[in-house]
Amino acid sequence: MTHYDVVINGGGMAGAVLALGLSQLKHSNGLALRIALIEKSRPEHNLHPGFDARSIAIAGHSQYLLQQLGLWPLFAELATPITDIQVSDRGHFGQVNLQATDYNLPALGYVIELNPIGQVLYQQLLQTPAIDLFCPTHIQSWQQAQDAVTITLSDSSEKQGAAGHRQFTTGLLVGADGNHSAISRQLNLPRRQFDYQQSAIIANVQTAQHHQHRAFERFTAQGPVALLPMSQGRSSLVWCVSNARAEQLMALNEDDFLSELQQAFGYRLGRFIRTGTRHCYPLVLDEVPKPWHHRVVLVGNAAHLLHPIAGQGFNLGLRDVAALIEQTRQTLSFARTNAPAPGSSNKPSLNDSACSEQALANIGGYQMLSRYGQARQGDQANLVGITSALALLFSNNDPLLAAGRNMGLNIMAACGALKHTLAWQAMGKR
Ligand SMILES: Cc1cc2nc3c(=O)[nH]c(=O)nc-3n(C[C@H](O)[C@H](O)[C@H](O)COP(=O)(O)OP(=O)(O)OC[C@H]3O[C@@H](n4cnc5c(N)ncnc54)[C@H](O)[C@@H]3O)c2cc1C
Repeated sequence: MTHYDVVINGGGMAGAVLALGLSQLKHSNGLALRIALIEKSRPEHNLHPGFDARSIAIAGHSQYLLQQLGLWPLFAELATPITDIQVSDRGHFGQVNLQATDYNLPALGYVIELNPIGQVLYQQLLQTPAIDLFCPTHIQSWQQAQDAVTITLSDSSEKQGAAGHRQFTTGLLVGADGNHSAISRQLNLPRRQFDYQQSAIIANVQTAQHHQHRAFERFTAQGPVALLPMSQGRSSLVWCVSNARAEQLMALNEDDFLSELQQAFGYRLGRFIRTGTRHCYPLVLDEVPKPWHHRVVLVGNAAHLLHPIAGQGFNLGLRDVAALIEQTRQTLSFARTNAPAPGSSNKPSLNDSACSEQALANIGGYQMLSRYGQARQGDQANLVGITSALALLFSNNDPLLAAGRNMGLNIMAACGALKHTLAWQAMGKR
C-alpha cells in the first residue's frame, strides 16, 4: 500500500500552506517528504468554503512566517498593505491611531482576498512534485494503529494530474478541514463551544475617498464595524451584529444598507457609494483545547474557530502550521544527529538511509506531537480568551461598559506603552 509521510485533510488556507511548507523539507538522503492533500472542493468553485468572498488581515508577524516558509512571493502580489489602524468608539471621543512608521515598518499587516489567493495556492500545489493532490474528494474511513493511520478515500476520488489510488497509510494525519472537521468529529476530543448570538456581515465596499491603506475598527452600539483596505481603493467590510439585526441588514436593498452603514461608521472615508454581494457568517467559538491524538493533529479552524473581532483566526492557524513544520524539521534532523557515529559504539551504526527511515517513522509519533502540543497550547488558549473578552466587551451597549471602553481607548492613546501593546497584538507578536 502507498505510504505518505504526512496526509493533510482540507486544502483551505491552513492545509494548503502546510502542504507547501512541508514540501520544502528534506530528509537526510536529500529526498523530499511524500505528502498527500485531500480537498473536497475545487478552487474555481465560487462558493469554496476555504476561499470564498472574504478578505482577511494578516498580521506583520504572519507575513514574516510566510516569508520564512518561502511562500510570501505567492501572496505579495495580492496583498494590500495596512499602514495605519484607527480604533474608535461611536459616540465617544476615545480613539487610538497606530502607524507603521512609528515602528519603522513598511506595514502593520496586509489584507489578502481569499478567492484569488485560493487559485494561486491551488496552482502551486499542482506544480509541487512532493505533493499528491486529491481533489475533489473526501476520506471515506480512517483507522489509527500503533505506527500508522490507514486511510480510504471515497469512491469518487480523483488525483489531480495522475492516476489515483484509494487506500494508503501515513505516519501523520492532519485535520485542516475547518470548523465541522470530519477528522475532529471522529476523534471526539473534548471541545469548548459558545454561541455569541451574533453574525458577521461581509462585503466589499466603495467609498468616496481612497482608504490610503488605513484600516478602521469602530465600536458601535450594534457591534464592531471593521473596514480593511483592498485593491482599487475598495475596502472590505466586516460588521458584527446580533443575529436579528443581521437578518434585517441582509434584507435591505443596497441604498438602505449603505445608509445604515454610513450611520454606524460615519464619514472617515466620505460617502459609501457601492457595495458588492453581502455574505453572512454566524459567530460561534468552537475550540478543541488539546487538538492532537495518536498520530493525528488538528490545525487552523479545525482546532479553533474564533470571533473575527480581532482578525486573528488565520494568524493563529498559521502559527499552528509553522510550529508543525518546525517540529517535523526537528524530527527529521534529530534522528540524524542522534544516530551513533560509525564505529563509535557496539551498536550497528545507522547509515543515511537507515537514519532517514527512522526519522520518517518518528513523524507523527508521540514525542513529536507532545512537543507540538506544548508549543501551541498557551497561544491558542490566550487568543481564545482575548477574542471572547473583546467580543463581549465591544458588542455591549451597557453605558458603564461603553464609558469604560472609551476611557480605555483614551488612556491607550495617551500612554505609549499600552498603545505599543495594542500595536504588537495587531502585528501578531506575542
Ligand atoms: C467574517 C470573517 C472575517 C475574518 N477575518 C479574519 C482576519 O482579518 N484575519 C484572520 O487572520 N482571520 C480572519 N478570519 C478567519 C479566517 O478566515 C480563518 O481562520 C481561515 O480562513 C481558516 O482557514 P482553515 O484552512 O483553517 O479552514 P477553512 O477555511 O475552513 O478550510 C477548510 C478546508 O477543508 C475543506 N474540507 C472541509 N471538510 C472536508 C472534508 N471532509 N474532506 C476534505 N476537505 C474538507 C474545505 O473545503 C476547506 O477548503 C475571518 C473569518 C470570518 C468568518
